[in-house]
Amino acid sequence: MKALTWQKKGKITCKSVPDPKIEDGRDVIIKVTSCAICGSDLHLLGGFMPTMQCGDVLGHETMGEVVDVGRDNTKLKVGDRIVVPFTISCGECRQCRWGNWSCCERTNPNGKMQAETFGYPLAGLFGFSHITGGYAGGQAEYLRVPYADVGPIKIPDGIEDEKVLFLSDIFPTGYQAAEYCEITPEAEKTIAIFGCGPVGLMAIRSCFLLGAKRVIAIDTVPERLAMARASGAETIDFQAQPIQETLIEMTGGLGPDAVIEAVGMESHGADTQAQKISSAIMSAVTTLERPFALNQAILACRPGGILSMPGVYAGPAGPIMVGVLMNKGLTLRTGQTHVQRYLEPLLGKIMNGDIDPSTIISHRSANLEDGPALYEKFRDKSDHCTKVVFHP
Ligand code: NAD
Ligand code: ZN
Ligand code: ZN
Repeated sequence: MKALTWQKKGKITCKSVPDPKIEDGRDVIIKVTSCAICGSDLHLLGGFMPTMQCGDVLGHETMGEVVDVGRDNTKLKVGDRIVVPFTISCGECRQCRWGNWSCCERTNPNGKMQAETFGYPLAGLFGFSHITGGYAGGQAEYLRVPYADVGPIKIPDGIEDEKVLFLSDIFPTGYQAAEYCEITPEAEKTIAIFGCGPVGLMAIRSCFLLGAKRVIAIDTVPERLAMARASGAETIDFQAQPIQETLIEMTGGLGPDAVIEAVGMESHGADTQAQKISSAIMSAVTTLERPFALNQAILACRPGGILSMPGVYAGPAGPIMVGVLMNKGLTLRTGQTHVQRYLEPLLGKIMNGDIDPSTIISHRSANLEDGPALYEKFRDKSDHCTKVVFHP
């Protein structure tokens, strides 16, 4: 089969690789009908995630039709149409029973390697390096889905792939990030969101679904800012306006009630404002390399507010303004998304017509051979690229 594979930092190629096979009784194999490129894949492309190996099959936002079923899997049958969460969870361990699906204790065969890095093994993830299990990803014609009697959700006929594909990751991710902000209509909260990529755009819509009063979205890419405004957010272009002063002004002098950092470790844009404030507050912090957006988010949030961080980090990043975080009494909520928590309720919202996640798609291709070029467009935010979907 054809698949998009990681070759080395900055290089992805479409290659012929062996078709996946059932390896465990709970597995299924799907014929991929749709898959997408995620901002997390850009961390792999950029070489920021350790333990990628030449030839690894990429992709963790995938759906398709079941073509083979392991003998112990009584939940799925050939012909079922499923969306596959990017987190692989057993459904039985303590963490899964607590609903912490992305902290599953059992699905990462390289858990020992991960424990050496993070102190504890976490769930396996599709197409996301060997530290998260070395599972082949779904930017391919076929995908082996382990623990397929737990994770995937069946999709009824009559609703097109593109409307439900993002249940695999970015819609639950944006929604969890918003939910972590403890939004209720009564609370009349103002939420600031750094990053108007796919995750930020899903977070904006999720904030409004939960009843946020205002959302202020920050980025610098014009078409992404326009999409944010089309979703009801007010926007700040971080290259044209000073973020902190503008946010303070827009929120009556206090700052937003909660801030979502939907940028991750490749945030860009030297932030002189943050630099100035940080050196005034903490002489120890005189330079802010990465992570700009995280520090801006810490600075922006009102005292006693919530910092929700879906943005992905792979290792030490810094310097982070921990002193500001602590002294302002912020609540930090973060992590890989517990996708399985959100599948049923969010499918319901899509079916009801409360949200159509497909409107953020800018580029489509039926040919995985277009993958390397589309990865570059998505990375460079060129050609008005906001989200890439393949129908292999
Ligand atoms: P993306 O790269 O397409 O979008 C990031 C956006 O942030 C871009 O539009 C960029 O212009 C903007 N940006 C860069 N620096 C900024 C700054 N200093 N201030 C404000 N905006 C800035 O990526 P995406 O697909 O939207 O993903 C965003 C993050 O979410 C990534 O780190 C990704 O890995 C992560 N993610 C996390 C989970 C999870 O489970 N926690 C799931 C999916 C994605
Ligand atoms: Zn992702
Ligand atoms: Zn588990």
